[in-house]
Amino acid sequence: MSSGTQTVDIVIVGAGAIGACQALALDRLGYEVALIERGCPRLEPTNPERVVALNEGSRIELERLGVWPALAQKGTGRIRHILVTECKTASLVHLDADGFRRRGTRLDTLGHVVDMAHLLQACYERLSASGVHLWKETMVRRLHVDSEKVVVELSGAAPVANVQARLLIGADGTHSQIRRLAGIAPWGWDYNRFGLVASIRCEHDHEQTAFECFRNSGPLAYLPLADGRYSIVWAVRPREATRLLHMEPQAFMGALTQATDASILERTGAIREVSPLASYPLELTLARRFTRPRIALVGNAAHTIHPVAGQGMNLGLRDVLRLSAALDSSAGRRDPGQPIVLQAYSEGRRLDVAAVAAFTEGMVDLFGLRLPGARALRSLGMRGLQRTALLRDLLIDHAAGLAQEEAQREVFCA
Ligand SMILES: Cc1cc2nc3c(=O)[nH]c(=O)nc-3n(C[C@H](O)[C@H](O)[C@H](O)COP(=O)(O)OP(=O)(O)OC[C@H]3O[C@@H](n4cnc5c(N)ncnc54)[C@H](O)[C@@H]3O)c2cc1C
Repeated sequence: MSSGTQTVDIVIVGAGAIGACQALALDRLGYEVALIERGCPRLEPTNPERVVALNEGSRIELERLGVWPALAQKGTGRIRHILVTECKTASLVHLDADGFRRRGTRLDTLGHVVDMAHLLQACYERLSASGVHLWKETMVRRLHVDSEKVVVELSGAAPVANVQARLLIGADGTHSQIRRLAGIAPWGWDYNRFGLVASIRCEHDHEQTAFECFRNSGPLAYLPLADGRYSIVWAVRPREATRLLHMEPQAFMGALTQATDASILERTGAIREVSPLASYPLELTLARRFTRPRIALVGNAAHTIHPVAGQGMNLGLRDVLRLSAALDSSAGRRDPGQPIVLQAYSEGRRLDVAAVAAFTEGMVDLFGLRLPGARALRSLGMRGLQRTALLRDLLIDHAAGLAQEEAQREVFCA
């Protein structure tokens, strides 16, 4: 049994991609960091791949942390065009990186499609070359917080029984134990949907195009992978998920073809191959606050949103950026857990998280409406969006993550 207490500056619970990136960012700032993970994360690629679409702002952040070069070597998909359709209507929105300029610089990509296993692998490679103490297969038993410090009682494989720090960061995902132990109530609901994930090969090359097709039961997204295939995320009701999960590949490809808008199938051609399927429950979980004395939440522990707009990981990486900036201030250097530092983090994140959560909910609601006239309203909105250059460019900005990236940077430089 381990004994003794180790003192570090900051302890992070949860070594998923966000906890790992937060640890790397703080290590770069010179903090001594302990990173606690209850599991032993699987770093081998899964079948199907579980991928995330990351915007340009996130890529820049991963580049800064030294994670991106390894990721790029393993191969990432690139999104240069996005086509959004509403199934069974002629409504289309086409977002295009071509010719889009921001402050005189040509934007040649709207997003990057990254395999989560590759992302974790790249983070763990960097962690092993850093000064971070990574303790896997380690659980949190209890927290003791006072005005000066936090002491975390551990069990499992850690070399010590307790770790003491000035700040505790909860990066332990949607059902965060740290959020619960800190007494922070979550808010949200279960969408009563599953996100079905598979990798498919189609007749035609994807030409770096992502598709999103809105259906009454939820969205269906096609994300272009590095090797010419697509990763699909299909939001379906639980009973439909069970039915699809038990289908033979040929029958599943038939069901997917039926669910996909004809304007998308025209571009992809026939679906030729499908991997095994995986499914994820979809829920909205927002922490009512992101901080408590000596505690901060980041990533899904702070906000879990519907994947319809592909923003969860992007939001989490902006948490990392904002918290690191607060900790890089002179106040942070004096005491990383003091209220002014936590307040700067919380205030810096509230608006962005609320805006993205509201935007995502708006999409889920608008496209889930079954009221008479709702379809006409949606198609009118989509046609308007396609024709209004300003709105379309704002959406491209959002897809590329540059607006938020810029806003964050302006805050830090102020
Ligand atoms: C189907 C689907 C598609 C998505 N697509 C996109 C997309 O295209 N773009 C995008 O930006 N986002 C997307 N997301 C969201 C994105 O995947 C998440 O926001 C992101 O993975 C959250 O990372 P995290 O590190 O905060 O949490 P997690 O990945 O959940 O990591 C939490 C870590 O903490 C550990 N842990 C948990 N509890 C404890 C504990 N008590 N003690 C110690 N360790 C603990 C876990 O083992 C895990 O390693 C998608 C989500 C889904 C479900």
